[in-house]
Parts: sequence; C-alpha cells; structure tokens
Amino acid sequence: MAGDGGPAAGEGGERVAIVGAGLAGCLLAVLLGRRGVPVTVYERRPDPRVSGAERGRSINLAVSARGLAALEQVGLRERSLKQALPMHGRMVHPVSGAPNFQPYGSDRGRAINSISRAELNRSLLDTADATPGVTLRFSQRVTGVDTAAGTLLLEDADDEPADVVLAGDGAYSAVRGSLGLDVDADFLEHGYKELTVPPKDGEFALDPDALHIWPRGTSMMIALPNLDRSFTCTLFWPKDDFDALGTPEEVAAYFERHYPDVAGLMPDLADDYEHNPVGSLVTVRAWPWTRRGDGAAVALLGDAAHAIVPFFGQGANCAFEDCIEIDRCLTETGGDWAGALSLYQERRKASTDAIAEMALDNFIEMRDRVASPVYRAKQAATHALERCLAGRYVSRYELVSFSTMPYAEIPARIRRQNRILAAAAAGAAAVLALTVRALTVRTRRRRP
Ligand SMILES: Cc1cc2nc3c(=O)[nH]c(=O)nc-3n(C[C@H](O)[C@H](O)[C@H](O)COP(=O)(O)OP(=O)(O)OC[C@H]3O[C@@H](n4cnc5c(N)ncnc54)[C@H](O)[C@@H]3O)c2cc1C
Repeated sequence: MAGDGGPAAGEGGERVAIVGAGLAGCLLAVLLGRRGVPVTVYERRPDPRVSGAERGRSINLAVSARGLAALEQVGLRERSLKQALPMHGRMVHPVSGAPNFQPYGSDRGRAINSISRAELNRSLLDTADATPGVTLRFSQRVTGVDTAAGTLLLEDADDEPADVVLAGDGAYSAVRGSLGLDVDADFLEHGYKELTVPPKDGEFALDPDALHIWPRGTSMMIALPNLDRSFTCTLFWPKDDFDALGTPEEVAAYFERHYPDVAGLMPDLADDYEHNPVGSLVTVRAWPWTRRGDGAAVALLGDAAHAIVPFFGQGANCAFEDCIEIDRCLTETGGDWAGALSLYQERRKASTDAIAEMALDNFIEMRDRVASPVYRAKQAATHALERCLAGRYVSRYELVSFSTMPYAEIPARIRRQNRILAAAAAGAAAVLALTVRALTVRTRRRRP
C-alpha cells in the first residue's frame, strides 16, 4: 500500500527515490537536485552527523583522481582535500631491517589522499541537505522494490510510491536482493580488522606522507594517516587466523614477532584486537543493473552493483564515477530515465569488471610482491620509462589512480605497451648480438 509520503514528482512527473545515503547515494542526490529533479533519499541508519561511527569501522579511504574529479563537479574537491592527507608512496615494512619508500609516480609529485569515509560522507550529506529538491530520510530501512506496483517497500512504515529507484544501498543491497537479478558474490577467505596507532608525543608515530604496508606473504597490514595524527591500521588476514590469537599476551607476542617496528606504537592493541569486528571482503558481480516493471524502473549503483575488494583503493572512486555517468546519460537522453539507465549500465559494466579484477590482483602485489628486491627494481625501471617516454609509457597504477581513463581500457593499453617494449628489447638485443659478432670476426681477421 502506498503511504502518504514518498518522493515528490519532478517536472517529468517521476517520483525519484535513492536508497542509501552513503557515498554514492549522497553524490547522486546532489547531482539530481542540481538538475532540478526532486529526490528523496532513504537511509537505514540514523543521521551519522548526529549519531557518530561504529567501533572498528572507521575506514579511511584513499581518494584519487576519479573521486576528486567527481567531487569537483559538486564543489567538494577542495573541502575534501582539506580533510585529507596526501600519501606520495608506499612505505614497505619488512619483518627486519629498515622500511623502504616506493613513490607512486615517476616524479614524486603524485599522491593519493587519505580521508575518513565518515568525514567524506558527512560533507556529502551536508551538501545534499543544502541542495534544493533533496529530502533526506534517516532510520528508514528499505526492504525492496515492487516494480509492478511502483512502490518502495519499507521495514517499519507503509510502502511508498516511486517511479524511479536508484539503489546505492551497498554491497549487501536489499533492493538488489528483492529484484531476483543474476548476482555472484565472491567472498575472499581473508577478512579485515582495524587497529590504531595513536599520536606519539603529539606527533605522527609513522611517516604521514605514505600508505604503510607490512607485507607478510599470504596476509598483510596497512596503515593510513588521519588528520588527528593517528593512523588507522587494517589487518587483512585469512579469517580463521583471527581466532588463533586468544589472550592479550598471545596478541602482543604475535605482533612483536611479525610486526616488530609497529607493535610498540599500539598501546591499545589487545583491546582493539579483542573488540573490533572482523569485516568481510566481497566482489559482487551483478547483471543486469536495471529492472523495469510497469510501475517503476530500478538501477543499482556503487557497491550495490559492483562491490570490489579494497586493494586498489578504488571502490568509492568507482562508485562516484557511476553517479557522474548517470548524470551524463540523463543529459544525453534529455531526461528520459529508461534510456539513461540502460545507457549507464552498458557504459559502466566493462569498466567495473576490469577494476574488480585489478583490485584482486593488487592484493597479491601488496601482500607479497612489494617486498621483493626484483619488484623494486622493476618499479624503478617503470618510473624511468615513464620519464623517458612521457605520455607513451604509463604504468597501470598511474592509469588507475591518476587518470580518468575508463578502467576497461587499461588492461589492453598495458598489454600494448608491454608488447612494444618487448619488441624494442628484442630489437635491441638483436642489434647488440650482430655488433658483438661483427667485432669478433674483425678481431679474428686482424690476428696473424
Ligand atoms: C576496509 C575497506 C577499505 C576501503 N578502502 C577504500 C579506498 O581506499 N578507496 C576507495 O575508493 N574505496 C575504498 N573502500 C570501498 C568503499 O568504502 C566503498 O566502495 C564505498 O563506500 C561504496 O559506496 P556506496 O555508496 O556504494 O556504498 P556504502 O558506502 O556502503 O553506502 C551504502 C549506504 O546504504 C545504506 N543502506 C544499506 N542498506 C540499506 C537499506 N536496506 N535501506 C536503506 N539504506 C541502506 C547504508 O547504511 C549506507 O549508508 C574500502 C572498503 C573497505 C571495506
């Protein structure tokens, strides 16, 4: 049954609802509000600007070129950068010996930005709240959409009418679940747990200009800096391994052995370890992302459509790109929702598949490869090539993090570059071999 409330109708007559006031839902609400499309956002949690964050789920994100380009479109780039700390490279911590710094770019000018997800969400909520036509409704859990009736189903309230439903309700999307779409949710055997390195004598206890990694083969820990001079550390371990450490003494001893240079910087280690939850890491592949019934059209976006593992720092960046694409498609179709949503999914799917694969691959790079001297030599060679062949040779990391090239084009571009390099190397080797041969023959002839 349709309740009295529900989204207001826009000029086109459609009542538009967004489910989830997370990063994607809020950005899309602002973009739609600015187009003059009235939109109501339904969020299951209370307003996080009032209620605060959950323990052990602080999550700081690396926001890079794609995210910043999207934030710029709603005037939030500079505000977000003020809430962020630049990280110009990785600081890799071996079990013994000094940590080594690996810059992200060839010229040390490239940085990704560490920002609190909660803080970024609050900025987006403030902007959405201030955008005419956007209505935010908190503590409203959506359970699904009836596309035939054109209603949004709410857990604790009457159904509400909606002609267009945009589902930004995260990796475990209830809207997606209610549509019976083809969904593959691939869980990693690893989970994650957050720990904290607080400031030491009022200063950062580690270098704040880096994303810190403790690669340990099949597992790892990372740390990103926060504005209050603390670091949020995240352990990525096989889930069973979290249970193997029972007592505070076992936890302390394990960290002294495997993370010796940081164990002493974590005064609350045992407490954090015991009380902070273990989160899951999932890759969601859903298709299609849209469903049209007689009553309502629905589209998935952000993690609801394509959650990815966090090892390339791209989940939020990618979710923001979805919002920009929906807005662009609405412009191109003159505000025709059905056409715009189908164009949006066609354009985005290959790219989100590509970043999902690259994110999985980057886990192996971060937890294992970065520690090897061969990897470091390869990185140095890559940066040297980037400097010599500016614009013609560009690393995968650079294309993902510091460009807005569609993710789907990146693997082919890297293969092409590698083929050209391999051919050039083979050519150089052949010239060298011929030269050596010619010199050898000449030397032999000169001999008496
Ligand atoms: C450990 C970790 C580290 C990460 N690091 C990075 C990083 O460095 N860089 C990066 O770009 N990304 C990173 N990500 C990914 C990033 O957090 C997500 O991709 C991003 O938050 C997706 O945004 P979203 O709006 O689609 O979903 P979410 O941010 O999950 O928002 C979904 C919203 O919907 C609400 N909701 C859920 N169900 C309902 C319902 N039934 N009814 C109403 N509301 C509902 C939720 O409360 C929430 O507010 C990381 C993720 C994790 C777990």
